Parts: sequence; structure tokens; C-alpha cells
Amino acid sequence: MEKKELIYEGKAKKVFATDDPELVIVSYKDDATAFNGLKKGTIAGKGVVNNRMSNMLMRLLAKKGVPTHYVEELSDRDTLVKRVKIVPLEVIVRNVSAGSFAKRYGVEEGIPFDRPTIEFSYKCDALDDPLINSYHARALKLATDEEIATIEKYAFRVNDVLKEFFAELGVRLIDFKLEFGRLADGKIVLADEISPDTCRFWDAKTNEKLDKDRFRRDLGGVEDAYKEIFARVTKELDETEKTCKTCKQENK
Ligand code: UDP
Repeated sequence: MEKKELIYEGKAKKVFATDDPELVIVSYKDDATAFNGLKKGTIAGKGVVNNRMSNMLMRLLAKKGVPTHYVEELSDRDTLVKRVKIVPLEVIVRNVSAGSFAKRYGVEEGIPFDRPTIEFSYKCDALDDPLINSYHARALKLATDEEIATIEKYAFRVNDVLKEFFAELGVRLIDFKLEFGRLADGKIVLADEISPDTCRFWDAKTNEKLDKDRFRRDLGGVEDAYKEIFARVTKELDETEKTCKTCKQENK
């Protein structure tokens, strides 16, 4: 499948049309932004890490019953995905206080919650992605009741799967942001990416940050943090995928 015209360029990714109107190619860049574009930079190798890591996690989630836009990894930076219309909500799930939650409610970072929380932001750069509740999202016709229920169900399922998966790698999944899309037939699928740009990962032993907070907060060691989390995920999933391949061969 070849890249045709550029249809969208975002902060961290480009999207290209293909010959198939229902498929597009996402191409991951090393560009990094934070604080709604106020802080800009590059993180060498980030595009490769985010592309490959997101694809591995999407494949894992698909196996666990979460439908996704993922179709096929084409190269280190390029992935074929189903074309969707993005639901303009950022869906944030949290297991531990951090970031805007800690700031908004005046609490420390690092307080574990008894149950995960979910919140939505309205995806609108001009308004700085304001927090929005589900009643307001419905009033603005951003999504239907049924779509919001589906999105919440999938988001918590993603959390269950990923929390357990990362715990095995010695990583605490603190919080993350998801985006969902509608396929041509209206079906809701997980879209966008799941990467150190969109998740907070803390080392389970040291609480060292292995995510984009190193860039946002000028903590240094940004590239190494991306490499470290990628190495852990790759090791774990390569082993699983090898096992699966072996099973398939044995079953023949
Ligand atoms: N997040 C994201 N994109 C955004 C805002 C947040 O991917 O535009 C992710 C962020 O990496 C973190 C989680 O969502 O894992 C919760 O972020 P928070 O609301 O605490 O905002 P922040 O402190 O990053 O501004």
C-alpha cells in the first residue's frame, strides 16, 4: 500500500491517503510539543518508538476484545490504519494522581486511587482542550449516549489490560489519554496512538518517569526514557508473539 496525498499534518504525525478510501497511512515524526504547542522540540527516534509501541499495544488490545483502527505496520514510522472520523474527545483514564489532576485539585502527584477515574476533554486547540462532562458532550452533539457508553467501556478495558501488562514489565501505568473514531459504518474503534507521548509510565521500583513528562518538565534523559520503555515492551511482546507463531506452526 502506497502513500498518496497528505491529508492531515498534526503535531506528531502525518496522515496520507491511499488507493483505498477506507484506509490511510499514519507516519510518525520525531517532533514533540507540550502545553498546547507552546513548547516545541524534537526527540530523536521518538517516531519509531511511538509507531512500533503503539502498534504492539493495539494488537494486544485487539486480542483482548477492544476493536482498533490498526491494520498493518508498514515500516518503522509508517502504519496502515482504518480511516475514521475522530470523536472530538480526549478520553483520560487515571490510576494515580498526576499532572493536571494533581494541579486542579491541589493534591500531590503519586496518590493511588481505589478505582480508576475517567474524564473527557473537548478536542479543540482554540479553546485549549477544556475539560467537559458527558452531558455537555451530548449537548454539543460530540457523541451519542450509546457512543459515550461504548467509549467508557473500552477505555476501562484498555486500562485493565495495559495496567496488568505494564506491571509485568516493572512499570506503573499512572494515566493515559485515548482517542476513538467512527468507521464508515459508524462503529466505534480505538484510534490515534498509545505511547510515551500519551501515557505516564513510572518505574515500579524507583518511580523514575519513562514518558513525555521528561520533555514537558525538562528533566533530561528524554531519548533514553523512550528507549527504555520501548525495550521493555519489545522484550515482553516479542516473546509473546514468538510463542503465538510457534503455536500456529504446531497446529498446522
Ligand atoms: N495527555 C495527552 N495529550 C494531551 C493531554 C494529556 O496525551 O493533550 C495524556 C498525558 O500524557 C497523561 C494523561 O493524558 O498521560 C493525563 O494528562 P493530564 O490531564 O494530567 O495533563 P497534563 O498534565 O499532561 O497537561
